[in-house]
Amino acid sequence: MERMIDRTRLAPGRAAGWALLAMVAIGTFWCALTVLSRRGGPAPEDLATGPVAALPGDGPAASAPTTGSRPATGTATATATPWRPPRHTARQTERDDMVRVIRLHWRRDGTTEGIEPVAAAMAAVPRHEFVPADVAAAYDDRALPIGYGQTISQPYIVAEMTRLLKLTPTSRVLEIGTGSGYQAAVLTHFTPHVYTIEIVKPLADAAGRRLRRLGYRVVDARAGDGWHGWAAKAPFDAIIVTCAARQIPPPLIKQLKPGGRMVIPVGRPHMTQSLVLLTKDADGKVRTRSLMWVGFVPLVRPSESK
Ligand code: SAH
Repeated sequence: MERMIDRTRLAPGRAAGWALLAMVAIGTFWCALTVLSRRGGPAPEDLATGPVAALPGDGPAASAPTTGSRPATGTATATATPWRPPRHTARQTERDDMVRVIRLHWRRDGTTEGIEPVAAAMAAVPRHEFVPADVAAAYDDRALPIGYGQTISQPYIVAEMTRLLKLTPTSRVLEIGTGSGYQAAVLTHFTPHVYTIEIVKPLADAAGRRLRRLGYRVVDARAGDGWHGWAAKAPFDAIIVTCAARQIPPPLIKQLKPGGRMVIPVGRPHMTQSLVLLTKDADGKVRTRSLMWVGFVPLVRPSESK
């Protein structure tokens, strides 16, 4: 009897002990599974992102994710998470074919420096999202209409102008002529510090919305006359002008940092222009070099754009 009483007294205690042990064991197993599955594949938030590309020779910092990311326009607090551009997979095969064509241009020109990060960026940005739905051949190597008499530039030209900027993850880059927002999206694969100005307000608004929808939230886009640059955000390490100017706007030269680079098509509107690379050395001395013939829509002034 006594033994029975002992047993009944002891049994619940033992059962509780086994139950506790089992729970600890299951818990440990579950944690281990979670860790293993994280190791085996990206965490859920990583699935929508891709690596930040960097130019060769940029040093160790260049291959790390970009830090000091800016919040989306209008957001008051800065986030500590490093910027990683979104990854889009739709129509990847067409993009890869487009990049093959870009590589053919580079091979023809004997260009090798800095091409890989640009090829990666061009392979990642969904160009078809930046052209009107009724425009076929989003991935053909040619400029395409985007409305308001404007065009999205030829992929090879986008790639080559991007390459010429020699961007690093800390570069501050200004684009004049947002258009569809495509070039700006490509730039975010190098740095989160992308500023862009578009003179046609409906295009500026649409591009801003499109860039946010597609995950390129770091682009600071505004409507205005890019001739004046963006003094409040200056100075810039790089400036890319995607409309043709009769002369290089002096405010843009002023807003370029010493050591900075600008690419700009210079020439008469509706004619063939010269793609000019402007560099400013450490002492502020400016040099220009004409690189190739191009055909861009004109840089217009507010009086002309009405
Ligand atoms: N980079 C764009 C294509 C540029 S087309 C893209 O990736 O889609 C050139 C753009 O420059 C046009 O949208 C045109 O409206 C704009 N533009 C012309 N003059 C301008 C100016 N003074 N300031 C800002 N943008 C200008």
